[in-house]
Amino acid sequence: LVGEGDAGGRRGGEGAGRRARVVHHVRTVMAELGENAVLDAIDRGTDEGGPTGRHWVLDPIDGTKGFLRGDQYAVALGLLVDGEVVLGVLGCPNLPHDLADPDGLRGCLFVAVRGQGTFVRSLDDPTERRISVSDLTDAREASFVESVESGHSSHGDAARIAELLGVEAPPVRIDSQCKYATVARGDAAIYLRLPTRKDYQEKIWDHAGGWCVVTEAGGRVTDAWGRELNFSLGRTLRDNKGVVATNGALHD
Ligand code: AMP
Ligand code: MG
Repeated sequence: LVGEGDAGGRRGGEGAGRRARVVHHVRTVMAELGENAVLDAIDRGTDEGGPTGRHWVLDPIDGTKGFLRGDQYAVALGLLVDGEVVLGVLGCPNLPHDLADPDGLRGCLFVAVRGQGTFVRSLDDPTERRISVSDLTDAREASFVESVESGHSSHGDAARIAELLGVEAPPVRIDSQCKYATVARGDAAIYLRLPTRKDYQEKIWDHAGGWCVVTEAGGRVTDAWGRELNFSLGRTLRDNKGVVATNGALHD
């Protein structure tokens, strides 16, 4: 299991109050777990990943800042087999079923299996529906999504690219891998994640699930240079810079 987060700061004398709250919340769901079992479970996500074997890749709360604001966040899961993503699941508890109707129903689960397409279901109904990316071929009509956080993706560079492409609509800012979900579902045709610093390495748990959900819906995902994302190098995408996800037709 390769996951974001470890129990490090929550063991020992420091952080006792926070530790007690975490254990309390976990035990509302799994009452049988004691404090050590909860901390051990959190620490199971420290695997190094890599090119061989099976690795679950989990971001338990992707888009923490959105979660805290009461906006979008995702529970993001991927499965790597020998360094390739073969499964992606995005649980998006707060995502409107229809982005154009933000006051309508919310809560979507996106499931993609390599070679089998991407499906969505409402969080409270197991009926699945296949989804696919938009068929737009004219970037001027495209809607593009980016991070809310300007520290995670350069809003200025994205605006410049949108201008060069003739994109007319303003960017739609969404936290977490819900951005991948909106591309997969055809709400947006472009997701730009452009580096803000030279040294930042994207984490595999921020992209594995979303990569599979977009790719299996017919879209394309590369880094900002057009290179394939390489999930086989460990916990980060150290061979890549930034991410560009599109409906495919607009990618080049
Ligand atoms: P988002 O909600 O798309 O802005 O992405 C949230 C993720 O951004 C978090 O899970 C972090 O792992 C990641 N993150 C943190 N710092 C940076 C950074 N400097 N550049 C890109 N992503 C970052
Ligand atoms: Mg994350």
